[in-house]
Amino acid sequence: MPSDSALRIIWIYPDLLSTYGDQGNVLVLEQRAQRRGIETETTYVRSADPVPETGDVYLIGGGEDRPQILAAERLRRDGGLHRAIARGAAMLAVCAGYQIMGSTFGGEEGQPVDGLGLLDIASTRGPARAVGELVAEVDATLNLPTLTGFENHMGVTHLGPGVKPLSKTLRGVGNGDGFEGCYAGHVVGTYLHGPALARNPALADLLLSWRVGDLAPLDDSRFEALRQERLNTVMSR
Ligand code: GLN
Repeated sequence: MPSDSALRIIWIYPDLLSTYGDQGNVLVLEQRAQRRGIETETTYVRSADPVPETGDVYLIGGGEDRPQILAAERLRRDGGLHRAIARGAAMLAVCAGYQIMGSTFGGEEGQPVDGLGLLDIASTRGPARAVGELVAEVDATLNLPTLTGFENHMGVTHLGPGVKPLSKTLRGVGNGDGFEGCYAGHVVGTYLHGPALARNPALADLLLSWRVGDLAPLDDSRFEALRQERLNTVMSR
């Protein structure tokens, strides 16, 4: 059994929302905690099961339109994620998972579907599918290096006054308004796949630090070289 002090990671609905290897976000978070001697306990919550409200970091991934609608319905009915966020849990929501966090998003035919209302955003269907590499420069207050990843979505996301843009889009579409993703409190939403935390380990550390405080530095030189290679390739196009 994990000790009481273990960092509790919750992966929401692997049976509905887990495209493009987004589950890798769980592995990166676990490893970056464990490499610092922080014990972790991960719970995979299937959509038939209740979402525990006492987790530290919640992760949700991308998905197709139909599973996205089902996930939104079940999470609304369940209420566990709402209670967890109200208790101060950290969260990373990716693509379909990001859209679900808002007030509404576009369904299969573009019809508005109710979201969870946990972020002040609303998504609709955009004019064309956004597919390709995404590079974005992060809001200075978060002090993160440039974000990289790839995107594949029809939706565009409008930010309300209750959230801040996560980053400014340098390549790709992101929210569709010149920005990519958003954050409010300890909740981050993004269109980045890759998985996002493998491509951007500093984002994983931000989520961890929100729960455990200052983190010991890690030797990331191997990953950093790969990151730079990717960034240079995309930016030189
Ligand atoms: N179904 C959503 C859209 O197309 C999300 C897609 C995804 O998660 N990759 O906008």
